[in-house]
Amino acid sequence: MITDNKGAIIQVNDAFAGICGYSRDEVLGKNPRLFSSGRQTKEFYASMWHDLNKNGHWYGEIWNRRKNGQIYAVKENISSVFDVQGKPLHYVALLSDITLAKEHESELDHSAHFDALTNLPNRTLLADRLNQAIVQCKRKKQLLALVFLDLDGFKIINDTYGHLAGDQLLIATANNMQQTLREVDTLARIGGDEFIALLVDVGDMTACVPLFNRLLVAAAMPEPFNDVTLQVSASMGITFYPQTEEVDADILIRQADQAMYQAKLTGKNRCHIFDVALDNLTRSHNESLESIGNALAAGEFVLYYQPKINLRQGKIIGAEALIRWQHPDKGLLAPADFLPFIENHTLSIDIGKWVINTVLTQIECWHASGLNLPISINIGARQLQQDGFFECLRTLLAAHPTVKPGDLEMEILETSAMRDLNKVSELIENCREIGIYFSLDDFGTGYSSLTYLKRLPVKQIKIDQSFIRDMLHDTDDLAIVEGVLALAAAFSLEVIAEGMETTQHGEMLLQIGCDLAQGYAIAYPMPAAELESWASTWKPDTSWLDRPSFMRDDLPLLFANAEHGAWINAIENYLNSNFDTPRPNNLNCRFGNWLNTQNPDKRINLQAILPLHQQLHKLAAELIDLHAEGHTKAAFASFAELKSLQDTLLQTLKLLIQEKWK
Ligand code: C2E
Ligand code: MG
Ligand code: MG
Repeated sequence: MITDNKGAIIQVNDAFAGICGYSRDEVLGKNPRLFSSGRQTKEFYASMWHDLNKNGHWYGEIWNRRKNGQIYAVKENISSVFDVQGKPLHYVALLSDITLAKEHESELDHSAHFDALTNLPNRTLLADRLNQAIVQCKRKKQLLALVFLDLDGFKIINDTYGHLAGDQLLIATANNMQQTLREVDTLARIGGDEFIALLVDVGDMTACVPLFNRLLVAAAMPEPFNDVTLQVSASMGITFYPQTEEVDADILIRQADQAMYQAKLTGKNRCHIFDVALDNLTRSHNESLESIGNALAAGEFVLYYQPKINLRQGKIIGAEALIRWQHPDKGLLAPADFLPFIENHTLSIDIGKWVINTVLTQIECWHASGLNLPISINIGARQLQQDGFFECLRTLLAAHPTVKPGDLEMEILETSAMRDLNKVSELIENCREIGIYFSLDDFGTGYSSLTYLKRLPVKQIKIDQSFIRDMLHDTDDLAIVEGVLALAAAFSLEVIAEGMETTQHGEMLLQIGCDLAQGYAIAYPMPAAELESWASTWKPDTSWLDRPSFMRDDLPLLFANAEHGAWINAIENYLNSNFDTPRPNNLNCRFGNWLNTQNPDKRINLQAILPLHQQLHKLAAELIDLHAEGHTKAAFASFAELKSLQDTLLQTLKLLIQEKWK
């Protein structure tokens, strides 16, 4: 095609006429605008003219329209012909029809992005759209849902009725599901009977539940095929974006896939929403497991040792090995910071083995330098249940010939023994035969069942530290400690108190008949290297020496302190509260009952304490009544007197106790 410098056509050949469908006569004198398809923008033409005038030629592709209206593509090469002054005289265009090539290209493009069977977007296009949707969510602060769908029972249809049936069902199902979605959503087929729906801007999580249900219904619509009806259902896994942590398209697809698997597991034909919090927990759990495993390999665990004492004799009777993690960044970590992570993992067995081995080596060292102390080891539930634990223990012992079995003790929790009572009692029995004894740790916090106590051949009960800590102020805890002591006596078991934090705790323990103890008041757990010098310098508190233990009958005398302290606190709280809170009552004053049963002229002088105790109760009752009648101010006025009566009572009690043990 040749035009003049205004663009009017002055010559075309036959081939040109063949392409555009216009005859030569029809186009002569016309502007090539005649062929415009409207697909090119103004800017496109402006740039073309710019090139032609500046460089003298233009090369590119243009979509044009034939005479019959059909759109076609040409590859066009235009050159300007200039006169001697350099002004354009003509434009000469050489063009070829590339419509077929273009169509083929777009077919290729389509098959690269769409599934041939259902014509739905494929995985590639879905990934593209998902990435775009994520960007959009961030910008517009929207929520998107990603649904992973897998048809239930599709394989059976394929196997039973053949692939044609399967294909037809897939097409129909794809169609039905597509119908339930909005224009902006994407349903993609990503494999055999797997689909993904991308739902953008879904409002909130609960708002899309009806949509999910519609998808389920659509996936389960029956499809007639020859003379049978084909029907499947769908398992759907759903995840949302954004999440607390930044995630990408791949992760979202994996999450939805994982949730779909859950839906399958829990019975198919249902939705399961991916639990982000649970996943984070599992992931951090796995990370912890890995780092604990590495720590063991790197030798970052150490054992601390906490002495155990016979208070009455002022003698060290042993020490408990307690594990610590010397963490390179976080410092010294307590067992509670890492043991819970490995509780149900084989790693706990490896660490348990390391503990036994380290203790045995340590005992050998101490023997060599003259320190002979039984060391107790905490055995975790899993280690305790492990097959071959006893044999393993014997092998370890054999490797340390200077250690006698009696140098080693085991502490177990009642709860871990319970999991397989027969097996554990057999293990305890076997160990006992070779001289290794067991202790029931944290006693009182589990079931504290008499049946277990009867069936577990342990030697010792360790009263849990929570009861010991509070027994000076809390009569319930004191009663529990006393109860455990009685129980232990009935079963002929030794008792040790753990968590003895002050010397007063020691006094009380001795008085109620618990001679063995462990706790901060004696020593904190310490590195192995410090135990020897500690043992050679430690002295028991003088208040413990020669302290009598009371007969059971006289225990109320010991209770009086805690009992009245708690009661007066309750009265003070009552005075500070409104009237309808229940009145503190003192009907069960154990000390009062005890006083009443004492023969006055028998063992001790009760002359001083009897009236004092009565006075205290009388005044307390008056204060309670005053408050109940609304005279709270008056009640408070006498509260100081009540406190001072209580102090006098305590002083007198102290004297009484001293007098009693002379
Ligand atoms: P546990 O066997 O009951 O050990 C007593 C815990 O009480 C220790 O805590 C000890 O440091 C702490 N303690 C001692 N005296 C006092 C005190 O006067 N007051 C207070 N408040 N606490 C006191 P730790 O070392 O943190 O150990 C905690 C638990 O971890 C242990 O309880 C034991 O069940 C477990 N554990 C420790 N080492 C090992 C081990 O090597 N293997 C296994 N399986 N468990 C272990
Ligand atoms: Mg213990
Ligand atoms: Mg304990």
